[in-house]
Amino acid sequence: LKKKAKAYDKQALPVNRAAVLGAGIMGGGVAFQSALKGTPIVMKDIAQAGLDLGLKEAKGLLTKRVSRGKMTAEQMADVLNKINPALGYGDFKSVDLVVEAVVENPKVKDAVLREVEDVVREDTILTSNTSTISITRLAQNLKRPENFCGMHFFNPVHMMPLVEVIRGEKTSEQAIATTVAYAKAMGKNPIVVNDCPGFLVNRILFPYFGGFNLLVRDGADYKQCDKVMERFGWPMGPAYLLDVVGMDTAKHAGDVMAEGFPDRMQYSEKTAVELMFENDRLGQKNDKGFYKYS
Ligand code: NAD
Repeated sequence: LKKKAKAYDKQALPVNRAAVLGAGIMGGGVAFQSALKGTPIVMKDIAQAGLDLGLKEAKGLLTKRVSRGKMTAEQMADVLNKINPALGYGDFKSVDLVVEAVVENPKVKDAVLREVEDVVREDTILTSNTSTISITRLAQNLKRPENFCGMHFFNPVHMMPLVEVIRGEKTSEQAIATTVAYAKAMGKNPIVVNDCPGFLVNRILFPYFGGFNLLVRDGADYKQCDKVMERFGWPMGPAYLLDVVGMDTAKHAGDVMAEGFPDRMQYSEKTAVELMFENDRLGQKNDKGFYKYS
């Protein structure tokens, strides 16, 4: 593995400036972490409200560091200066690597990836933070599929060390190497995995959510499930974790898993996640999910 890591280091292109598409839970986190570790990043969204939220999150995290004496006010200002909010693709020619982090919808991702491919340089690496959608499938409509791979962060980005780097059918070694190097520069531990719906972690996590959904359907109390899983040693139980992920993202990702693994991941009745989503209980992002937050 060490040999492989060195080989990757040699092939990596420099990432002096990055961009993230979508300033939501994940995009905002990616922008914060990149800037914190020294790589300037354009944070693009379609809505000013999204950009405001992304910046507010970053300011909140930095303010905590300053108040704990881990960082000076000048250092905080320097990190914030490295996040460039944008509603357009103005200076994307100077971007070396893009992380797409818009909603978990294949059609929206297709449109966004095609759009960004037209405005970046030919050697810019494009990546997607999709939770579940096959990278080979997303590469289908790209002109340069060799420059595209998955870069799957976990939530919250600033705390979770793992990043899955996903190799699609046509992904070049240089795209993998550059993405691995950028993940390391962000202070993360990347692993390179092969492509399939859900990759590695969500192939494990979504059956777990499925088991939880079935237990709730059979009458279990979600709060008890959370308590038991915490006592089992997990940092949080499934209901709280779903509130953190967002019920919209969990529902859309669940649909992708059901399509990819119909024998294992399709359920005969609506799941608790689907019912919550239909009732606009999205979790922490709108203050109401399994639990209430305001
Ligand atoms: P989110 O709903 O919090 O944010 C999505 C953002 O994308 C919004 O700000 C929205 O305005 C913006 N957006 C929509 N269309 C856009 C476009 N065309 N161009 C630019 N911005 C656009 O969603 P999220 O939870 O951050 O999820 C984003 C991606 O990350 C999804 O693919 C999701 O599966 C993946 N992901 C989510 C988690 C999680 O725990 N939430 C974990 C890992 C990966």
